[in-house]
Amino acid sequence: MPQWDFLNFLATCARRYSNFHLAMEAEVTGLLTEGDRITGVQAKTPDGSLVVEADLVVGADGRHSIVREQARLPRKEFGVPIDVFWLRLSKKPSDPVTTLGRIAAGAIFVTLDRGDYWQCAFVIPKGSAEAARQAGLEGFRRLVLRVAPEFADRVAELTDWDQIKLLTVTVDRLEKWCRPGLLCIGDCAHAMSPIGGVGINLAVQDAVAAANILVSPLRNGVPSLAELEKIQKRRTLPTYLTQKLQMIVQDRVMTRVLALKRDPKPPFAVRLLNRFAFLQRIPARVVGIGFRPEHVRTPERITPG
Ligand SMILES: Cc1cc2nc3c(=O)[nH]c(=O)nc-3n(C[C@H](O)[C@H](O)[C@H](O)COP(=O)(O)OP(=O)(O)OC[C@H]3O[C@@H](n4cnc5c(N)ncnc54)[C@H](O)[C@@H]3O)c2cc1C
Repeated sequence: MPQWDFLNFLATCARRYSNFHLAMEAEVTGLLTEGDRITGVQAKTPDGSLVVEADLVVGADGRHSIVREQARLPRKEFGVPIDVFWLRLSKKPSDPVTTLGRIAAGAIFVTLDRGDYWQCAFVIPKGSAEAARQAGLEGFRRLVLRVAPEFADRVAELTDWDQIKLLTVTVDRLEKWCRPGLLCIGDCAHAMSPIGGVGINLAVQDAVAAANILVSPLRNGVPSLAELEKIQKRRTLPTYLTQKLQMIVQDRVMTRVLALKRDPKPPFAVRLLNRFAFLQRIPARVVGIGFRPEHVRTPERITPG
């Protein structure tokens, strides 16, 4: 399910609660505090500033989280050797119906089937985006063609750098996911690498674990720090193991491919791809389900009407 559909799905389910309120285009700019406790947020909206007081603030604002920055939670950052250009190319009925990874010297190109177009990830060595941009669009189209020549009839669709978004990849983890009145989950607590495409699974699992653990404390008042810490305790191991696996793939496979000076000949390429296949086969369950699946166990479970 594309992320925007999933967010609409969540909002539709939540609207069944009379006290649910969704503020669109509201950007959190700061935290309210009373002593050591976080008591709410300040936000900027098209209609002016907004102050929301809360028994619990949940930081779920992603890998550039302002919430975790303002809460000054200690964070560990891990080295990442890759960045990713995201782009779209049109899809033809004759194209193979499968996600594909292709490799060439200094580049990995992955195409994800999005129905009527291909979402393409062009993986490059960290810090090399500027050089790629300086080579110009024509140079970039040539790079794409070198790794994915089957798109020769479509690279001309790339006419502007606005169509090619650079996503700088970071992998990090908070040492503490909470403070009194505040809990961080998802990328805010642990930014994930795109490898395996599991970051969203972990973010949703954190949210489910938080709901299961906090439903009673929230009904009875304000959750204590010890109750918030239970979520970090439960979710740290699956986060650690997933990030570890991502770092093994990026260090052992991706760094090697990106360091190649010449396009690999088929046997080498096949060996490398086998290595990908090998790595993919072991964690097939990990990719789909994760190291610690979560199930909604709150008293009330709703299905969309
Ligand atoms: C290049 C790349 C490719 C990836 N590909 C995949 C993939 O295919 N599959 C996958 O599962 N994972 C993928 N990931 C990882 C994935 O994107 C994240 O792990 C996942 O989106 C985390 O979800 P989240 O809800 O914690 O954060 P996000 O999805 O980042 O959501 C954070 C939300 O908070 C909002 N926000 C931010 N700041 C504020 C603010 N100040 N006020 C209010 N709102 C704010 C943002 O607008 C956003 O809606 C990829 C990551 C990268 C870098």
